[in-house]
Amino acid sequence: MSAQLLDGRILSTHIRKQISQQAATLSAQGHQPGLAVILVGENPASQVYVRNKIKACQEHGLYSVYDVYPDNFTQTDLLARITALNADPRIHGILVQLPLPAHIDSHRVLEAIAPHKDVDGFHIANAGALMTGAPLFRPCTPYGCMKMLESIDAPVRGAHAVIVGASNIVGKPMAMLLLQAGATITICNSKTRDLASHTRSADILVVATGRPRMITGDMVKPGAIVIDVGINRITEGENKGKLCGDVDFDSVRNVAGWITPVPGGVGPMTITMLLVNTIEAAQRACTATPQT
Ligand code: NDP
Repeated sequence: MSAQLLDGRILSTHIRKQISQQAATLSAQGHQPGLAVILVGENPASQVYVRNKIKACQEHGLYSVYDVYPDNFTQTDLLARITALNADPRIHGILVQLPLPAHIDSHRVLEAIAPHKDVDGFHIANAGALMTGAPLFRPCTPYGCMKMLESIDAPVRGAHAVIVGASNIVGKPMAMLLLQAGATITICNSKTRDLASHTRSADILVVATGRPRMITGDMVKPGAIVIDVGINRITEGENKGKLCGDVDFDSVRNVAGWITPVPGGVGPMTITMLLVNTIEAAQRACTATPQT
């Protein structure tokens, strides 16, 4: 048996067509959606992610501001910049690329973003709203995973969903969204005993650990839907320099019913959902201040 491919690039292309139309409509009403992206430091992976986000804005008619600051940028100056962006009516979404340099308190910075512009959904008010079932913004990566499940009409209600990884940006919000969709949830972390006994009972398996290819075919239930969030750079062997996920694609594809590839799976969906959240923020602003 070979799993069907859950292709994030194809689904993204489809959603992005709608994004372009919505951005054009909002722009015609004087509310061109605007996203500000802030990068502090010279982390090469972050530079690539941020460039891709800005490029996506430009391709789909969103206004964007890209701030790049050196490693030694102070927390005070960063907070001042966020305050200015909070007050800027051209900006509907603010994203601070993580990780931040060690001298900056990430929590403090994320809490400084106005919740109605927090398109990453990391502010405590948005995390709380998600927890209570009324999210203002859904964090982009789990939101993208939900869209992928929707795209194949996955029977989420009543399914057993196992999430391997419990971070605030992926694992925990993923669990909340699946729970709201009616799944029964198991969340695993690095201390979980006998991980395979959990993963083997998953109808839907979401893996977000940052541990390359840790989920192998013998850990997966036949026919399961497997969503691989991991992005890892291969450091040795013939594929050195290429990307791989947290799932061992070659062995799992022989067991699963559906599987996301890396690259080309969850990655493109994360950027797409960032645009969706920015459009939603602009639509709210448009409703709040109708043009006369
Ligand atoms: P974090 O490092 O913040 O969290 C990793 C989680 O995985 C932790 O909860 C950790 O457990 C758990 N974990 C680690 N090792 C194991 C193990 N052996 N068994 C079970 N659980 C384990 O990572 P992120 O959530 O930020 O990212 C995870 C992966 O997803 C990375 O590869 C990252 O690059 C990728 N990513 C991809 C995105 C995309 O757009 N495709 C977006 C964001 C992330 P514990 O809590 O006990 O430490």
